[in-house]
Amino acid sequence: MSAAQVVRVALDLPLHCLFDYAVAEGALAGARLRPGLRVRVPFGRGERIGVIVELAEKSDLPPEQVKPVLEILGDPPLPEDFFRLCVFASSYYQAPLGEVVLQALPPGLKKVRAAKRRVIAPRQGSSVPGVRPRLTAEQAEAIAAIARGQGYAPFLLHGVTGSGKTEVYLRLIETALAAGRQALLLVPEINLTPQLESRVRERFPETHTAMLHSELPEAARERAWRAAFTGEARIVVGTRLAVFAPLPNPGLIVVDEEHDPSYKQQDGIRYSARDLAVFRARDLGIPIVLGSATPSLESWAHALQGRYTLLRLEKRAAAARLPEVRLIDTRRTRLEDGLGVPLLEAIQQRLDAGEQSLIFLNRRGYAPVLACSACGWISRCKRCAANLVVHLQDRRLRCHHCGFAAPFPRACPTCGNQDIHPFGRGTQRLEATLAARFPKARLLRADRDSVKSRKQWEILLERIHRGEADILVGTQMLAKGHDFSRLTLVGVIGADAALFAADCRAPERLFAQLMQVAGRAGRANLPGEVLIQTGHPEHPLYHALMRHDYPGHAETLLSERRQAGFPPYAFQAVLRAEAPHMEDVLAFLKAAAVLIPPECYPDVTLYDPVPMRLSRVKGLERAQLLAESPERPQLQAFLTRWRKALADVKTPARLRWHLEVDPMEL
Ligand code: ADP
Ligand code: ZN
Ligand code: ZN
Repeated sequence: MSAAQVVRVALDLPLHCLFDYAVAEGALAGARLRPGLRVRVPFGRGERIGVIVELAEKSDLPPEQVKPVLEILGDPPLPEDFFRLCVFASSYYQAPLGEVVLQALPPGLKKVRAAKRRVIAPRQGSSVPGVRPRLTAEQAEAIAAIARGQGYAPFLLHGVTGSGKTEVYLRLIETALAAGRQALLLVPEINLTPQLESRVRERFPETHTAMLHSELPEAARERAWRAAFTGEARIVVGTRLAVFAPLPNPGLIVVDEEHDPSYKQQDGIRYSARDLAVFRARDLGIPIVLGSATPSLESWAHALQGRYTLLRLEKRAAAARLPEVRLIDTRRTRLEDGLGVPLLEAIQQRLDAGEQSLIFLNRRGYAPVLACSACGWISRCKRCAANLVVHLQDRRLRCHHCGFAAPFPRACPTCGNQDIHPFGRGTQRLEATLAARFPKARLLRADRDSVKSRKQWEILLERIHRGEADILVGTQMLAKGHDFSRLTLVGVIGADAALFAADCRAPERLFAQLMQVAGRAGRANLPGEVLIQTGHPEHPLYHALMRHDYPGHAETLLSERRQAGFPPYAFQAVLRAEAPHMEDVLAFLKAAAVLIPPECYPDVTLYDPVPMRLSRVKGLERAQLLAESPERPQLQAFLTRWRKALADVKTPARLRWHLEVDPMEL
């Protein structure tokens, strides 16, 4: 037996390797050395926290270069399946394993601090469920189907808004708890849906439920993570990062609103928590339920091909019928300050009846741009390829991409004309218009300018529920899973822009948003109505909405995607780069495109490098190169080799690049 053992440690560094350290005999005080233990190690001139991934007899490095582990931190080891998930994420998303492992830990556990911590033993709490409604026939069928699943069993639960998907999740959680297992419920943005959190807590008052999301204060997040990890928390509700929560005894994974773009991390390791959740369920051999009123086309295609079992809830659970959706043709209707007469009349009717209206405009600010009528000047951000948005409340122009803000100019900066005007319409202007139009109505606006924290959002929701608003104005913030009992009218304006956007996923997102916001209307015993203002009333997307026909719409989009050879009929990855000068960026991408001989991966197509749609942000020019293949394994093999080759390319000092697999936007 040697005097020391070698451990391979994952560190939070942008390097695709593990780091060898020695553990002196006797350093363990009798504890067993195992993968999954956290360690404090010397690195460079400082120290770092890492996680042991492997044990080894000896290192390939000369012994004098193998430094000793300074401390083994006192937690139980991270479970093996946690590593399998991290290894998969690392290889699939071409991200260093150390970064994947360490980003999965709460920040407090990654900092060098020598304190020993208490380990909480798992507690088998009894769960006395709160009051539960009688299931509808559709709900009962869905639950029975899921209960029949053995081992890994993926389900796509497609249920119209208000069909009672949440009730299905709650029953499934109940079953998992009764079997002594943990349940993991992933949600898009916890802050936007405090109602879900309270529904879980009310249903399982005796059960320890951990909430896990990045906006928690550090200590609270660490507590929640630890509760999940020890098994003390039997229910874990969290945003995308919670997919990495180590669980000793998982029995069920639910991904609510599985189509939601927020499951895709947009920086650092660009993973899809939904896709990782499916991997995890398969790896663990447990059921997973993906729920949505408007599933992603990827999941829908899986369901059509039989890879996921499709379960449908086509009726609303409580008495309410689906709202009637009508279009207002803005080419034939008189508009007053951008609002069509039928919409104004409908709002007036709701005011007279003491009911609520919601006007949805997914653009915050007062107006998207300030413009000079004399010379055509418009307010542009100097650092981004974007307009500066007019914010009237604090009389500033703001860039929504880099945060730049400047006071209003008194006159046009190019021609001196004093007659400069906000052009177009954002939520602030809409609010002002409605306030002028309906002076007696009480208005509340909800967007990221008026609601900056979870607390503010809870207060606002509370006010809405108390009936303190006659008209709500807001962005998609208002669209998510809220139940406003007196809301009977939803008006939609400014939606056309997304119909013809360059991004092929824009219509998919628009449809999901409109379905979701339309679903707010008429939830209780009052019938709801949705009025959409559009200059394209013939557009099939709107007609599918009028019919509440997600499957028909999905079929149209899927056949378009098939013809265009787009996902889910092809697999994509994108290499993005940014630097102060576009020529450097394009030169790098052109060099990247010829790194691997094309004959090695005949099914992988590399497209020409192109500037991104938002071609400059914070003074950096951005471009990208798309790699595509009908074969996922070949694309994966190509990406691994490409990533290694890219690491050796000499780049100008300020050039940065990254790979994104399964990009959401191109
Ligand atoms: P979804 O998540 O599909 O939009 P929810 O689960 O929020 O729908 O349910 C919508 C409304 O219907 C909620 O107010 C919920 O309490 C109610 N509900 C759900 N299931 C039932 C049921 N079986 N009986 C009566 N009401 C129900
Ligand atoms: Zn001018
Ligand atoms: Zn900017």
